[in-house]
Amino acid sequence: LISLGIEGTAEKTGVGIVDDEGNILSSVGNQLFPKEGGIHPREAAEHHAYWIPKLIPQAVEEAGIDLTDVDFISFSQGPGLGPALRTVATAARTLSLSLKIPIVGVNHCIGHVEIGKLDTGAINPVSLYVSGGNSQVIAFESGRYRIFGETLDIAVGNCFDHFGRETGLGHPGGPVIEKLALNGSYVDLPYSVKGMDFSFSGLLSAALRAFKRGVPIEDICFSLQETAFGMLVEVTERALAHTDKNEVLLCGGVSANSRLREMLKIMADEHYANFYMPNMKYCGDNGAMIAWLGQLTNKYFGTVDIKDTHIIQRYRTDEVDVPWVKDY
Ligand code: ATP
Ligand code: FE
Repeated sequence: LISLGIEGTAEKTGVGIVDDEGNILSSVGNQLFPKEGGIHPREAAEHHAYWIPKLIPQAVEEAGIDLTDVDFISFSQGPGLGPALRTVATAARTLSLSLKIPIVGVNHCIGHVEIGKLDTGAINPVSLYVSGGNSQVIAFESGRYRIFGETLDIAVGNCFDHFGRETGLGHPGGPVIEKLALNGSYVDLPYSVKGMDFSFSGLLSAALRAFKRGVPIEDICFSLQETAFGMLVEVTERALAHTDKNEVLLCGGVSANSRLREMLKIMADEHYANFYMPNMKYCGDNGAMIAWLGQLTNKYFGTVDIKDTHIIQRYRTDEVDVPWVKDY
């Protein structure tokens, strides 16, 4: 069976084609770069409306198949920006009706974890999913992916992006901060882990205050990374110790950061755990992850009636039964 997946929870549009054995036949995408400010939900929706019809033929061609070879449509049902999700769902329904093939909606965050496992060969990892919109520590336990820790306010990528915008570094902030951090040294910024959760808004405010006080930008960037990543690694480590697993998987757009990878790898080594990170192509939002999770979902639950394709803006990772994962 061939699944065509459509992703568009935030500012990236993706279309991917994956077969039921997990062969990724194609994955193409296009990212919106907002001119100023953050992502505007309506602009994201317009971006998807423009790109989905262009990316579908591209994905089909790259896969070397015909559109009529597609057996069902998978789409990201949530979590994400309302207008963006509605555009994706509308495109998915239209395709399903016009091709007369079934449809299935899937959870975006679980998509990241499953494509990460598929691409790296990890079997039962503790996953750190960090992006512009999400920051979660996820691990499988008793039938579902449980959230062991998550942000209490903004995502770590959002913290970097916001800092980048306010200080004139531009958007997205993450890559620029990483470069500047190479020449920085440590200044004190608030570290905040509460229980198993973390928080980034206090860190962002403190970093912006330091910038206004005239603290060198390199030093703030360095400390922003060390503090934010320290928080993420601490919670991932505690989840690893608690679950007694032996794999750590990093995914989401912030995975591009070398320092985060280094810190997580050191932590994993100390626990004799293997560290995995998918190809960058499958770290950020992509269509293949939706197509693949659609395959897993279809295999165990089948597809759904078109009237059950409503979007779920606050779709939680731990709401979904994942019978394809086994407890080890
Ligand atoms: P989601 O819908 O999953 O929240 P997203 O729209 O944020 O995804 P991604 O591509 O997964 O898209 O992640 C983008 C984020 O990754 C941005 O916040 C960006 O600043 C951050 N990022 C990219 N490169 C780096 C880097 N080198 N260091 C730190 N952060 C980075
Ligand atoms: Fe994502």
